Formats: sequence, C-alpha cells, structure tokens
Amino acid sequence: MTAANLLDFDLEGLAAFCERLGEKRFRAVQLFRWIHQRGESDFASMTDLAKSLRDKLGGVAHIKPLTVLSRQDSLDGTIKWLFDVGNGDAVETVFIPETDRGTLCISSQAGCAVGCRFCSTGHQGFSRNLTTGEIVAQLWFAEHFLRAKLGVSERVISNVVMMGMGEPLQNYSALVPALKVMLDDHGYGLSRRRVTVSTSGVVPMIDRLAVDCPVALAVSLHAPNDDLRNGLVPLNKKYPLRDLLDACARYLPAAPRDFVTFEYCMLAGVNDQPEHARQLVDLLRQHGRNGLACKINLIPFNPFPDSGLVCSDKATVLAFAGQLSAAGLVTTVRKTRGDDIDAACGQLAGDVVDRTRVADRMGQLRRLSETPVTWMSREHAG
Ligand code: SAH
Ligand code: SF4
Repeated sequence: MTAANLLDFDLEGLAAFCERLGEKRFRAVQLFRWIHQRGESDFASMTDLAKSLRDKLGGVAHIKPLTVLSRQDSLDGTIKWLFDVGNGDAVETVFIPETDRGTLCISSQAGCAVGCRFCSTGHQGFSRNLTTGEIVAQLWFAEHFLRAKLGVSERVISNVVMMGMGEPLQNYSALVPALKVMLDDHGYGLSRRRVTVSTSGVVPMIDRLAVDCPVALAVSLHAPNDDLRNGLVPLNKKYPLRDLLDACARYLPAAPRDFVTFEYCMLAGVNDQPEHARQLVDLLRQHGRNGLACKINLIPFNPFPDSGLVCSDKATVLAFAGQLSAAGLVTTVRKTRGDDIDAACGQLAGDVVDRTRVADRMGQLRRLSETPVTWMSREHAG
C-alpha cells in the first residue's frame, strides 16, 4: 500500500482517514492544524498526538511537498517558484505582496487543454491534472516559507487566486477539496471573498461551484462577441457568451462578492478597438433585466514567442478603460509586477525547458496588482 498524502485531504477527508485508523475526529483536527497552521511534516514533532498515533501515521501516511526547481525574487517583492510535478512537468506559483494583503497565484493543471490563442500555457497543450495535494502543496509551501523568511508566526498569505497554469474548472474534483482546505478555520482560514477561481468559462462547473464551494469568481472574457471569442478562447464554441453570462448571473446569489470579475486581455488591433468597448458595454449592461453586476479587469497582454500577438499600447488601454468607465462599468487596469524576474524567465527556460515545456511561458508571470481607473473601494478590492 502506498502511503496516503495527507495534503490530499480536506478536513472531512482527513477525519474519514483517521476513522479508518480507529481514531476520533478531534485527532484529525489536531493533525490538520499541525500540517496547515504549523507547516509540520514530521509526525514525530506533533507532540500533542499520542505516540501510538504518531507511529501508526508514520507507517501509512506522509505529507508530500513539491520539489522546488527554481525560485526567483523580484525587486518589488514578488516571488515565483517553479515546482517539479514529475514526468518532465513543472508548474508555477507566484506570491505578490502588497501593503494590505499577500496574494498567492496557484496552478491547477500541468498545461491546459483549453488552448487560448494568447496564452502560452494553452499553446503547450495539456499534460495532466494536479492532485488536490499538489494544489494545496503550493500554498502549504509558500505560506510556511514566507513565515520563516519574514520571521513571523502569523499568516502571510491572505488571498489566493487560481490564476496560474491550467483551467481550474476542468480539474473540478481536485479543486474543491483544495478550496476547502484554504477556507477551513483549522487550515488557512481564508475568507471566501479572498479566494478567487478564474475560469475561461466552463459553464456547468460554474453552477456546481455555486453549490459546492462558492468563492469569488473571475471569468476570462477577452472578447465582446462570439465570433471574436471563438477565435481567442476555443471553449466559447461549446459555451457561448450568452450561456456564460447566464451562468455568471446564476452564480451571483451564492457568491461571497456581489459582482463577477471579467478579465480582458488587451491585444493590439484584435479586441481593443472603440467598437469592441461599445459591444462590451452593450453585452454587459443589457444582460438580464438590469445588466450583470461585474467589474472589468483589463490585462496588458504578455507576449511570448510565436504568439503572433502584440499588447495594446498604453493610450489604447486607457482609452478602452475610459470608454467602459464612462458607461458605468467599474474598470481596472492590471499593473504588472515582478517584471525583473519575468525577464529572467527567459533564462530559466534555457535550463529547464526540456523537462517542463512551460518555462518559456510568459503569460501569467507578470504579477499584478490593480490600478483603479474608476474609484474602487478597498473593501471591494478585497
Ligand atoms: N485558466 C483560467 C485561469 C488561468 S489563466 C483562465 O483562463 O481564467 C489566468 C489569467 O491569465 C486569465 O485571465 C488568462 O486569460 C490570462 N492570460 C493568459 N495568458 C496571458 C497573456 N499572455 N497575457 C496576459 N494575460 C494572460
Ligand atoms: Fe488555459 Fe486559462 Fe491559458 Fe486559456 S488562458 S489556455 S484556459 S490557462
């Protein structure tokens, strides 16, 4: 029997596992707290657990970390890790510090099957789903690494965004227990408002998320009409804009925030013209009876080799944002973070590209805080 990776379990799962070992639920709570709140991976150090239980666990379970392939520290405090997930695959995790929060950007898959035109993960194709344990391990590692680095015992990471590699809603069964670990008061105790799932629009899974684990929702829109979106986000052919926006509207009553965030990657001459802004306003304002409660986040495109795409220039981005704002849509432009380590990313590619197929990916690496175009209150900004 292979040892169970305890990072694979939410608290319910761990309680069931402990029960199978003949242990009571409160033991699972203790164990869960040791793992996630204290970052402990050695059962022998979990001193308030009975010696007999520690010995038992040692035989059947372990806490399996991911292997760090590299770490890059930006001058602005952004840290990016590349983790080995075996068989030549690697995934990235990025920490973005800000004055009032610390955000961790987590990957959900090695590669991605959606194949968006502007995304280098999409260009590399799909390798495999991450397990719950591999998703959680990114947070487990980063949180306890950062606490040690900063010499603090309290929580450093206050926000999680599922915006690394992969489409989280195409790895739903692993995602939901991972979200539960993040939210659990015995785990990381994150607020639902501060955990964001970003999706290219897997409609049925948006509905399921509303029931199973409603957290903040971000939807990668990128285009104001189906023709254009079909070419940028191929999943749109299966779940066109109307269905997607309907799913967003259905999600809102369960959502911890009263709006959905729409991400819109600015591509020169492709989706950034005044006509596109006009269409986007109509699409969102005319949806349902009163329009869809949303905020729009414009993302400057991060170019990568052979994408054939160029980022819109600053004036165009600001004009586009201005048009949306003038029509009453709360719009922010994402500010890039970690530029200096992004540059180093190209060098990193030389070292590990054979094993990772992801290392030249530039797409989501620039991290990212938001510059309000219209005023956005802090409580809304999270
Ligand atoms: N698969 C999910 C989450 C991961 S992608 C999704 O698509 O939403 C996270 C965000 O980065 C998405 O909004 C995605 O569209 C954006 N993105 C991907 N490639 C990019 C690039 N080259 N430049 C800027 N943003 C990019
Ligand atoms: Fe996948 Fe998101 Fe990239 Fe599209 S943007 S290919 S859904 S990771």
